[in-house]
Amino acid sequence: MKLIMLGAPGAGKGTQAARVAEALQIPHISTGDIFRANIKNGTELGKKAKAYMDQGKLVPDELTCDLVADRIAKDDCSGGFILDGFPRTIPQAEALDKVLTERGEKIDFAVNIDVPDEAIVSRMSGRRACVGCGATYHIEFNPPKKEGICDNCGAELILREDDKPETVATRLKVYHEQTQPLIDFYEKKGALVTVDGTLPMDEVYKAILGKLGK
Ligand code: AMP
Repeated sequence: MKLIMLGAPGAGKGTQAARVAEALQIPHISTGDIFRANIKNGTELGKKAKAYMDQGKLVPDELTCDLVADRIAKDDCSGGFILDGFPRTIPQAEALDKVLTERGEKIDFAVNIDVPDEAIVSRMSGRRACVGCGATYHIEFNPPKKEGICDNCGAELILREDDKPETVATRLKVYHEQTQPLIDFYEKKGALVTVDGTLPMDEVYKAILGKLGK
C-alpha cells in the first residue's frame, strides 16, 4: 500500500505514520527526518536545508523531489511505503505522480489528519524530539517513560528549533498557503481520507486503520 500523510505541522503525522508503517510492515519515509539526519552528519544537503528549516520555511522542491524519488525506488519500497511530510506543495505532488505513473503505480490513500490551528499552537510547545533518533514525544499527550530521555535510544529530548512558537506561526502560514491545497488535489483523485486529529492518539490510529480497510 502506498500512503501519504497530510496535515498541519504538529497534527501527529509522524507519530501515526510510524505506527501505521509498523502495522503494515512498510517503510516510513519522513523528509523532515532525512533532512535532520543530513544536518547532523554535516552534509551539503543538510547545510542547505538547515537555513530554511530553522526559519520554518520549506526546503526548495529541487532539493526535495529527487531525494524522495530515489528513496522510493529502493527495494524495501516494493511492497509500499508511507510518505510523511512529502509532498508539501503541488509541484511536489505532481513530481511524485510522475514518478509513480512511470512505474504504473499510484498513491492508494492520502490520510489527512485534521487539527484546527488553535490546537496546533498549544501542542507544538509541548513537543520534544530526540537528538539521537528523531523520535517525537509530547510532555502531556505522549510522554517518554523517563522525563527528557528517549524511550527508543536513551538520548536527550529537546524542543526543536522549528517547534519554537515564533517558528510555528510561520510553519502554519506556509502550511495553509502551500500544503493545504493538496487536500483538494488528492480528493479529486479519490484518494483522500480524513480523520479527526483532535481525538486521543490511539483513536486516531484506529480511525486511520479503519479508513484503510485494515
Ligand atoms: P517535518 O519534520 O515534516 O515537520 O519537517 C521539518 C521541516 O523540514 C519543514 O518545516 C521544512 O523546512 C522541511 N521539510 C520537510 N519535508 C519537506 C518537504 N516535503 N518540502 C520542503 N521542505 C520540507
